[in-house]
Formats: sequence, structure tokens, C-alpha cells
Amino acid sequence: MGGGLSTEPHLGLKLDGVARWSQATAVVRGITEIFRESKSLRENREKARLKYLFLEQGWTAASFQEELEQRMGFPLEPAIPEEPPADIYRDHVGVHRQKQDGLFYVGVAVLRGRITAEQLHTVAELAARYGSGELRTTNMQNLLILHVPARRVDRLVRELESAGLRVGASSFWRGTIACTGSEFCKLALTETKGYARWVVEELERRLPGFSQQVKLHITGCPNSCGQHWIADIGLQGVRVKTGGQMVDGYYFCVGGAVGRHQAVARKVGYRTPATGVPAAVERLLRRYLEHRHEGENFRAFCARHTDAELRAWLAGGEVEGIPAPEPSGRLPHGIEG
Ligand code: SF4
Repeated sequence: MGGGLSTEPHLGLKLDGVARWSQATAVVRGITEIFRESKSLRENREKARLKYLFLEQGWTAASFQEELEQRMGFPLEPAIPEEPPADIYRDHVGVHRQKQDGLFYVGVAVLRGRITAEQLHTVAELAARYGSGELRTTNMQNLLILHVPARRVDRLVRELESAGLRVGASSFWRGTIACTGSEFCKLALTETKGYARWVVEELERRLPGFSQQVKLHITGCPNSCGQHWIADIGLQGVRVKTGGQMVDGYYFCVGGAVGRHQAVARKVGYRTPATGVPAAVERLLRRYLEHRHEGENFRAFCARHTDAELRAWLAGGEVEGIPAPEPSGRLPHGIEG
């Protein structure tokens, strides 16, 4: 319950309950009523989100469940214990066996979700020719082709790759997403889509063969449509002054994740003009490669270091931490590039 990102992130909480299908309407109705009748959510349109019950009104998963069950008039059955996956690459990219015998699905990494009309025609045609004709989209802005018989997988992969649709993509290509940005979004402070491509190309050039999993999310304003709060490296677009001019810049949030290691990314107090981002990321990732423990992933590495250390590696030396941008996206008064 109550998950949401935007300017004030809150990770969803799990209730200790399972609803049977016949109970679903009562559950949804109960939740909707709590939302409607919570006075604090009715007073400010910008705070009309369930997450604010947890962020500001002191609600917990247990108190929410108690209120819900009271409204429904029956308790939920206890939840089934589950172990969330530790793997961040749940993006389905690559070739994977389906549950159905002899069938595979093939995931294409679509960099920042941008695909040409011609590529989309191609992928539709290939889905019909090699699979069942079915395509799926994913929340990592990728495409899946389903129900491909084993003997056809290799040819499908070759055809996808020759159309510029990567099945075997670099960590940066695969792990980068971007929101709409200034090209089409009136709220944006920075351009993000073309920029994300440039950042990925730069990182592929600077760190060839980098094979560790890393999620790099770029978002053009504090609203976090690019989900920078749940990225290993989250970049929030800001305007910064450099050489007397206002230019695109990015503020770094590090260590976000969903799954077993779920966390909201930490505001580490470092920002740079947009052109400085690839060098900063390179410095941080080189430090990780050189100093990580045996088998340690980037998330765990960040978790055992302080904001000041992460900031120093991003900056290439110790620097004073700057306050995070305000919810408006503006840098605090007096902060310049
Ligand atoms: S995060 Fe901001 S810039 Fe990006 S799409 Fe959302 S509102 Fe627009």
C-alpha cells in the first residue's frame, strides 16, 4: 500500500493479507473509502495520495490493514511468505525459456523506450514470423516477443540485431531509462531522451566490457517519471549556472532499488552540468570495480559507503555537499554551477 515516487518517494508497504477473487471488490472498495474519507488527503490536491497517510499521518501497514478489515467486516487470510528477488535485471532482456515446453521469449532492450516506426513494423513482422505474433511491453521500456520455438530463436535474434534492436545489450544500454523530458513535457527542466543516448554511448566508450548490473535513470524534473528514486544511479534534471549561462544539469541520487534490497536512492549532495555526468559516473564505477568485495554488486557497495564518499568519487575529490533541489526543481538559493 501507499507506494509512490514523484517529489516525495515512499516505497509501497505489504499488508499481511491475501484476497481471494471473490473478496477483491470488497478490498478495493474498502481502500477507496479510506482514500476518500481521509480528511488530510482532501485538503491539498498535491497531497491527495495514499502514501501521505504513511509519510505524514503516522499510518503503518498494520493500522491500514486494521482499518480496512473493519470496513470490510471480515479479516484477510494471512499472506503467504515470499522472498523478493535480489536480481535487479528483471527486465526480461535476452532469451528466456517459457513455462511451455520448447518455447522461448526474446526480450529486446529498447534504449530509453525510443523506437522508430520502421523498427516497430519490423518487430511486429518478426513476432508474427517467429512467434505467435504477440508482443509485450515492459516497465523498463523494452519489448518482448513471445512463444518462439527453440529452433527459431537464433535466427530471430540475428534479425532483431540487424534491425538495431539489441538482445545482447551492454549494461548501460540495458539499464538506462529516461522520462519524456523537455522535448514533449512542459514541466521538464532538462532534455532527457537524446541526452540518455549520449550518456550511454559515452559510458560504453569509457568503460568497455563493463558487465555489472547497474540501473541509470534520468528524469527531467523532480516529478520522477523516469523513476530516479529507485535507480542505482538516479539523475534528477536541474538548471545550473555555468560560465554565466543557465544550462541543463543533473543532481545525483545513489543506491535506490526495488526487490530484496529495496531503498529510496540517497541524495548524495553532488550535481554537475549535464556534460559532466559521464565522467562522474565513470569515476564512481571505476572506484566500485577496483574496491568492491568479492561478488559484491553495485547496490551493496553503495550501501556500505557514506554520502560523502560517494560524492567524492563522483566529483573526483572531496567536495562540500550541496543541498538537494527543492520540490520545484530549483536549486536552493545561492547554489550555482
Ligand atoms: S519527470 Fe518531469 S520532465 Fe520527466 S516526464 Fe515527468 S513531469 Fe515531465
